[in-house]
Amino acid sequence: MLISHSSASFTNLNVYDKSLYYHNKVKLVTQIENVISPSKPFTLMGEHSVRCTGCGDLLYPCSLRCSKDDGLPRAEYIQKRIVPRDLPGIWRFIDWLPVREPLQGLGGRSVSYKSSGLARELGLENLLISFSGYWPEIGATLSGCSFKDLEAAPTMQRLVETGGGIMVVASAGNTARSFAQVANAANLPLVLVVPEESLHRLWAVDGEGPICLVAVEGDYNQAIVLGERISSEEGFQAEGGARNIARRDGMGTVMIEAVLRAGKLPHHYFQAVGSGTGGIAAWEASMRLLADGRFGERLPRLHLAQNLPCAPIHSAWMDLEGPKSTCPRGMYDDVLFNRHPPYGMPGGVAEALQSTDGAVYGVGNEEAKAAEVLFQEAEGIDILPAAAVAVAALIQARRAGSIGDRDRVLLNITGGGISRLKEDFTMNYITNDMTVRHGDSAEEVVAMIKEILRGRGICC
Ligand SMILES: [Zn+2]
Repeated sequence: MLISHSSASFTNLNVYDKSLYYHNKVKLVTQIENVISPSKPFTLMGEHSVRCTGCGDLLYPCSLRCSKDDGLPRAEYIQKRIVPRDLPGIWRFIDWLPVREPLQGLGGRSVSYKSSGLARELGLENLLISFSGYWPEIGATLSGCSFKDLEAAPTMQRLVETGGGIMVVASAGNTARSFAQVANAANLPLVLVVPEESLHRLWAVDGEGPICLVAVEGDYNQAIVLGERISSEEGFQAEGGARNIARRDGMGTVMIEAVLRAGKLPHHYFQAVGSGTGGIAAWEASMRLLADGRFGERLPRLHLAQNLPCAPIHSAWMDLEGPKSTCPRGMYDDVLFNRHPPYGMPGGVAEALQSTDGAVYGVGNEEAKAAEVLFQEAEGIDILPAAAVAVAALIQARRAGSIGDRDRVLLNITGGGISRLKEDFTMNYITNDMTVRHGDSAEEVVAMIKEILRGRGICC
């Protein structure tokens, strides 16, 4: 039975009941659509159900895990044909985002364009570049300068809609910056847990917003452990990483935007990956576009790239010995390394690669640097190190002869334009509220975080 809904009673529901309400609303919408003529446009946004990619069971919408297996949850949208809405940024594709409304104040998205410079260098006739970053001359206005901005906005909006508490994000840099930008713009509370040595990546172009920034002595893994501890407290919510459908489908808008621009699915898709979540997102968006029926009959091949030697997905796919538990200093890109990528489970990276006849590339520091220089000279914009790793992978593939001259290639430049941004904005570095040292009591750390948030009138 559906829960009756008025704004007053909905506000008073707890998180579980809101989740159940939302789940039932989705079921009702499905039933309604079954009796509506397909010729009539259906106006609800982002309506979906969530299904386990392992056993196929329907899950509660906010579920990050299935009780039966390790399968990733995946959104199934009621709208099977994508119709861009007259909304800013990624909200243009809201029918395939797991939210009901746009997050106000945020309007960025990736921008794709047909390359001439890099295409000429590589002898490619159909190279489409998707740029996520700041480059106003082509309409790219992501102030976090990374495609992590694309996942932060729907993730925060979904949390608002499901009443899930204060978001906790553990990150080595770019993800934290993106969530900080979104929290700031939308005035939403956020706890960021970041390795001390990554603090230089935490800046915002506006104020700091209602953010508690926790620096951790150690690496990304220590940040993750502390983030999990904080989010286990009542009133806090883990962002969920690869298991969060809002994160994946936010990143999936890169593929949607590029395919709508080109009118066809690409033959090849290139992206540098840390956890590989962006690769899963591109694959899932491709499956939806394939099912749409208007953009082609074959999934794009996923070409994923990592910076050697810390390249666990490359090692797993190539059946090589995996990297050591810690990465050496001096990696060209030190944010791509994730020790526990969502690789082998249903719906994970391995399945994405298998189903697309994919490939994984290991890229050394020197070739990544050379690729960055080549890209900047050919296209006229600075890019983040991860994006340069993707460019290097494309160069490798071209040299190996696995990409034809006329193949349609989509290159995801996952971050760039920081130098360009500095011309237009002052970057304000976010100062950490506290630093957690090895051996500090987790209980005391959590108590201090709550104290800081209470002092800002946020919780708890
Ligand atoms: Zn399952």
